[in-house]
Amino acid sequence: MTVFDFRSDTVTQPTPQMRAAMAAAPVGDDVYSEDPTVNRLEELAAEKMGKQAAVYVPSGTMSNVAAVLAHCARADEVILGNLSHLFLYECGSISALGGVHPYPVPNQPDGSMHLEDIQGAVRTGASNMPTSRLIVLENTHNRCVGASLSADYTRQVADLAHANGLNLHIDGARIFNAAADQGVPASQLAAPADSVTFCLSKGLSAPVGSVLCGSEAFIQKARRVRKQLGGGMRQAGVIAAAGIVALETMTERLIEDHQRAATLAAGLQHIPRVDFEAQHTNMVYFRLSPEAPFDVDEFIQQAKTKGLLIGAAGGGRIRMVTHYWVDDQAVKSALDVIAAVLKGASR
Ligand SMILES: *Cc1c(COP(=O)(O)O)cnc(C)c1O
Repeated sequence: MTVFDFRSDTVTQPTPQMRAAMAAAPVGDDVYSEDPTVNRLEELAAEKMGKQAAVYVPSGTMSNVAAVLAHCARADEVILGNLSHLFLYECGSISALGGVHPYPVPNQPDGSMHLEDIQGAVRTGASNMPTSRLIVLENTHNRCVGASLSADYTRQVADLAHANGLNLHIDGARIFNAAADQGVPASQLAAPADSVTFCLSKGLSAPVGSVLCGSEAFIQKARRVRKQLGGGMRQAGVIAAAGIVALETMTERLIEDHQRAATLAAGLQHIPRVDFEAQHTNMVYFRLSPEAPFDVDEFIQQAKTKGLLIGAAGGGRIRMVTHYWVDDQAVKSALDVIAAVLKGASR
């Protein structure tokens, strides 16, 4: 049975071109800055993001915590979205490891936060309060159905940050999806921010890693934090090589994933017992309608027996994510399986 995996774009396997590049990569000890492949990936990433410098890190989570710890001291405060990945899904790392205090403000359905809410969260400098130091935006926004933030909005948040003496970091795990969505270079979306991170291991299909980008001085600090976190790697060129292929060949094609997500969304809206929620970029969210005799877990189990993997997103929501390894046939087959499972469930 062919299995189609729509749980996440993190399930993407490296392409044959990536595997060839990995096998052939010249490598060295990256803690000595002697890995030519890592150095090339970092240069390429910095260039793509329009920043001075970059550092290769093992994961998006480490990249975010390194960024926050490079921007903030203990008891400094970060203003972030209440639905952000950094707030919800990173094991409280900024507090546990950096003593950094999160100030969550409401995320709107489009992934933004109201400027008034952000401004309202900036501390006044009273002697008994934490010190506001950083604002974090997420682009695209995972929990907000993959919605992308515009360069315009990002500029407004950056202006607010800088007017208050704060920095702006973008958790751009999927910023190339945002760029594809809006038909602009990722560097344009990153330009207003002081730092930006993106994942190579999601829609770009590389097996491992994220890159954190910013000014020379900031990246020097972030390198020290990476080392503290145990993220200094040695012959990491073996995996960085796949990241170079990802940046060179996988960013433009993301629009195909978005088109397939739109096809999936259109199909779902015609299936009885599906309560469609929304689709943006490569993500589709839906629920089961109240007449469905299954709960979400059983629905996901049934789909699995028919070769379709999908993910529960919590609170009754179901998420499907398109990526390089699901083609038009996979989308058609996914719709057929969902319709069949829900039809078979009639009472
Ligand atoms: C996946 C993700 C991360 C974390 O990346 P990992 O490599 O899984 O640690 C951070 N932020 C967002 C928005 C993500 O989607």
